[in-house]
Amino acid sequence: MKLSRKTCLALAALLALALCARLEDARRKRRHTRAFFAMDTPVALTAYGPAAPRALERAERLVRRLEREMSVTVADSGVSRLNAGEEIPADGTVGRALSAALEMREKTGGAFDPALYPALRLWGFTTGKYAVPAQAEIDAALRLSGAARVRKTESGFRLNSGAAVDLGGIGKGWASDAAADCLRENGVESAVVSLGGNVRTLGPRPGGAKWRVGVRDPEGGLLGVIAIGEGAVVTSGNYERFFEKDGERYWHILDPRTGKPARSGVVSATVIGKRGAACDALSTALFVMGPEKSADWLRKNPGYGAVILDENGALYFTENLGADFVPDERRRAAARVLGP
Ligand code: AMP
Ligand code: MG
Repeated sequence: MKLSRKTCLALAALLALALCARLEDARRKRRHTRAFFAMDTPVALTAYGPAAPRALERAERLVRRLEREMSVTVADSGVSRLNAGEEIPADGTVGRALSAALEMREKTGGAFDPALYPALRLWGFTTGKYAVPAQAEIDAALRLSGAARVRKTESGFRLNSGAAVDLGGIGKGWASDAAADCLRENGVESAVVSLGGNVRTLGPRPGGAKWRVGVRDPEGGLLGVIAIGEGAVVTSGNYERFFEKDGERYWHILDPRTGKPARSGVVSATVIGKRGAACDALSTALFVMGPEKSADWLRKNPGYGAVILDENGALYFTENLGADFVPDERRRAAARVLGP
């Protein structure tokens, strides 16, 4: 069969169109990454599409700027200035993050408290100079700790003498939200931001499917995998930072009531929700509360899901996760719904 010249031209045009569509699709789905170290943890930014390279560069700059402002160990950071007695504005980086942290303190009944630094400092978790403090030292530090020592002024925050704030329990989640927002503002529709145990997704995966986020098993491998659209998956674990002395292990999440590492029976607490900052603060808070109180809290706050591993190997998960949480095969027999 011989094709007419017109038909040949039409076929060629169709072919060219199909090729262009495929190229455009590949361009939209092309994956770009950036990896660096900030906020004391490896950071991995992944974004898709033609806007990604520029957007990623800006997001990295933003994370580094937030680190400089929020770090308790950088001498002239916003947090250090606040801790040195200066007033900081409510609408600046640190003011807004501190506001969110104080709100989470209210919501968690004090299990999360950003003003624990006088006690935390004694254990050396932010400096690496680990020590088990004497009870008298802890008692004295507790008298200076607690959000009641943070004063709201007309336009900002100021601390009572001796008080000190540390945003270590919320900062990475806060930065993950800021990075995701920055990527969106710069034209990205699909992205994953990961800062240590803080994962924040933007949009669905290219093509519309959910992301799959693995939750680390402290004994190796994964506890399970969480499927999520746009949102956050944040884990706090006692294996992240700890030291051992005389056969005892001491970790970086403190019970605000005792000023000592929280011993609630939790090894790892993962929170799934919309925003990284809230999930970050909450994963720290659930670690302090323990499985039972966490179950109560989550029942009253159904906007969050959670996966909790306790020291006996029981793996609790909230019912609202449904098929979005798949426990690893090795952990399946010990997996159970969190709650009564
Ligand atoms: P995360 O790894 O997010 O659970 O945060 C742990 C960090 O938060 C610690 O290294 C401290 O800087 C800080 N922190 C420890 N205990 C608490 C607490 N109960 N409330 C708020 N922040 C805390
Ligand atoms: Mg946290």
